[in-house]
Order: sequence, then C-alpha cells, then structure tokens
Amino acid sequence: MQNREPRKEDLIKGATGDWEIVLGLEVHAQVTSKSKLFSGASTEFGAEPNTQVSLVDAAMPGMLPVINRYCVEQAVKTGLGLKAQINLRSVFDRKNYFYPDLPQGYQISQFKNPIVGEGVVLLDMPGGRTVTVGIERLHLEQDAGKSLHDQSPTMSHVDLNRSGVALMEIVSKPDMRSAEEARAYVTKLRTILRYLGTCDGNMEEGSLRADVNVSVRRPGGPLGTRCEMTNVNSIRFIGQAIEYEARRQIEILEEGGKIAQETRLFDPKDGETRSMRSKEEAHDYRYFPDPDLLPLVLAQADVDRIAASLPELPDEKKARLMSDYALSAYDATVLVGEKATADYYEAVVKDGSKTRDPKLAANWVTVELFGMLNREGHSIETSPVSAKQLAELVDLISDGTISGRIAKQIFDSMYKTGRSASEIVEKDGLRQVTDSGAIEAAIDAVMAANPDKVEQAKAKPALAAWFVGQVMKSTSGKANPQVVNEILARKLGLSSEG
Ligand code: MN
Repeated sequence: MQNREPRKEDLIKGATGDWEIVLGLEVHAQVTSKSKLFSGASTEFGAEPNTQVSLVDAAMPGMLPVINRYCVEQAVKTGLGLKAQINLRSVFDRKNYFYPDLPQGYQISQFKNPIVGEGVVLLDMPGGRTVTVGIERLHLEQDAGKSLHDQSPTMSHVDLNRSGVALMEIVSKPDMRSAEEARAYVTKLRTILRYLGTCDGNMEEGSLRADVNVSVRRPGGPLGTRCEMTNVNSIRFIGQAIEYEARRQIEILEEGGKIAQETRLFDPKDGETRSMRSKEEAHDYRYFPDPDLLPLVLAQADVDRIAASLPELPDEKKARLMSDYALSAYDATVLVGEKATADYYEAVVKDGSKTRDPKLAANWVTVELFGMLNREGHSIETSPVSAKQLAELVDLISDGTISGRIAKQIFDSMYKTGRSASEIVEKDGLRQVTDSGAIEAAIDAVMAANPDKVEQAKAKPALAAWFVGQVMKSTSGKANPQVVNEILARKLGLSSEG
C-alpha cells in the first residue's frame, strides 16, 4: 500500500509544485474491562481521584502484577476483528521513564513480541472508493496516572485512578494519504472496536486517543522525515492537526529547510502544532523483559473459541445489507456505522418473513429519523420512535394510505407525541385521497378559477406544476400526487410526464 499511485485530489499545491502527505497512526484504545491490566482495581470513569488505586497501581515496594485474563481475551478479540495475526507467545517489557504520574518509574508494555501482529482495516471513502490500511501490530500496555495542574496555584496533583488501566496500542502502517483518510481510519477503527465490545470508543473520556505521524514528500518520492503529534482526542482535531502540520512542513521544505524529527502537540484553541521534544532529547526507554511476568502463552483452542464468538463485523454486515436488500454502498455504509443503527434498520425492514421496501426504509432511517435525532439531541438508543413504529409508517406509505409528504408530518407528530402512525392518520384524517372523482373535482375547481393559467400551461407544460401545487393545497396535501399528475396532464392535453 505504501507505494500506491498518488491521487490528484489528495495532493497539496505548494509554491514549487505538488506534495503528497504520508500518514501513520498509533491509537491508544482503553480495553473495556471492569478491572485493570495487572490489578483488581476498578476502571470506572469519573470516580473521585485516587479511589481506584491498588498497591500494584501505586507501585508499592514488593508489589507483584498479575495478568488480567479478560483483558488478554479482549486484545485477542480485537486482533481477530482486525483480521490480524495472533501471536500465541508474547512478552511484557518494562519501558523505563520518569514522570510524576508514573510511580513505577516504568510502564509495562510489549516491545519486541506483541500479542497481535499484522492486520488490516478497510476504509469506505466517498464515491465507493476503498482504501486498505495495514495494521503493523497491537500490543497491551498499562496506562499512566494523570497530573492535575489546575487544582492549586502552587502545586501539581496526581490522580492514579487511571494508573494500570489496560490499553491496546494499535499501530497502523503509513498507508494514509489525506486528512480525510485519517479521519475515516479512526472512525472505522472505532466502529470495529465498538462492534467487538473491546473499547467503548469514547473520545471525550479519553478511551481512544491518537498519535498522528505526518510527513510530506514529492508525489511517489522517497519518504520524508516525520513529526508525531501525540494524544489528539477528537476526529475533527486529527483532521485539523494533519492539515496544519503538512502545510508547516511544506513551507519549511520549499524554503530550503529540513524537517526536524520531533514530537509536537496540537493545540485545538489556535489550530496549530507546537514542538514538545526533538529526537535528540528523545527517551531511551531501556526496554527489557519484565522479570515479574512470564511470557504470555495462549492456547490455539482459546483463540479459536474467541474467534467463534465474534459478532458480525461492519464490513460483513455492509456486504450482507447490500446483497440481502440491494442497498447502495453509500446507504449500507451509513447504516453499519453503529451497530444499533444497523439493528434498528433491520427491525424496520424485516418482519418475520415479510420484507418492506429496503430503499424506502433506509431513507426513513438515515434521512428523516437521523435528521430528527440530531435536531433533538437524541441517539438511536433513545429514539422516541421505535423501529416497530417506524415500520408501521413505512407500511402506510407503501400501501398508499398516506403520501410521502403527509408521512413527514405524521412522523413529526409520532416523534413529539408518541402516538402511532395509524392513530394519527385516523384521528387527524390524513388518509391519502386516491379517489379520482374527488381529485378531478378539485382540479376542475382550480382550472375554472384560473382560465388564463390554463391557456399558459397548455402552451408551456412546465407551468402544470403550479396546478399540482394548487390542488395539493386545496386537498390539504392529501391528494395522491401521481393521480393528480395523470388527470391534470389529460385535462391540459399533455403527456402524463408533463
Ligand atoms: Mn503506548
């Protein structure tokens, strides 16, 4: 993938020609687990500082880490979800550095022998384009505590609640070529993790953080020197950081300068990146195997058992929705973005052996329902309109009881009052008028009142639309538009397409 042909749309124009961005991401994903990687302390978010700290997490002398089997299974599950190599033997190493929120003086991580090797993530880009991003590895490691600098004017405080929480560091290959692809990668990775239930993907709570490696080069040329932006915690910021950083590097190179390999910090306040530490100051972590922990050896049977328990993942679900319901790639991609959305859609479209119009159902879920949920600040899980209720509305449209236009009005009322679609139709008298006699009478009335417009429309068929509007108005939107069009075309002497 690294040498895929550069796309014109991805290139950035500089003063001296085009440039290509090369991106690789390291994502830290917090493992969904009640207790920490090597201790039984709770991992729950939002607790009082230093209330979830065992002797191991506080690095008391003589403490001994004990591996959490569940965290290991979660890492294996994630590896399988990334179609990756599972390494039956992996090793925990000590990564040594000093920091006030790291009482051990080292982080237990995996260096030479990670639990998961090479895998792959597919990105669904606009226009049906697919980008394959290679996964280099996934390893398990401890999170550090948190330094708090805003609690006192003279002191810094340390909260060790996060100390020892299990993280999966997921390292991609440098296979992305635009901010858009990097955003799509984090979005897709998050979706996969949430389907698997191995990380909640909550970026505001820090459950998913990305280190972004950015370099630029002449299209297809040798790789440039990269800078790493650490701990970017929103998908929007990832895009902004990349765009700013690529521009900065291009400017330096075009003025004849060199890129210094360094770690930079993205500041969302001013949208800029700033140097944190250069390579010269880079840590030598002195990795060595942790003498307190034996190599982690998995049985193939356990890996097979976990593999058999995997849920249907987004790529497979998308392919199935496209083949079962003839949905477009676009609709299917939108629907599988969250498992709850896909479940909701399938509950609308399928009812025992009965299948509703899949495209109609998809539009109602992704356009009308999503639009309303966004406006009202709800999620699909808290939607006031259940899948069953929406299915009833779709049925009323499909069998011609109501028009698509009236359906939107009914949906609005369903959402706000909790009443069912059929109840609203009956009580509010919203049944569609398909009786051609009644529609013809309405058309005749409009034509009789506007003889000049009739003459104009006969000469210029596009003006017939005005009559359709008037008839819909006089029938409170209940006339079947198709029947109106047909009768109107006949009366004006136009083809029925007029
Ligand atoms: Mn790490």
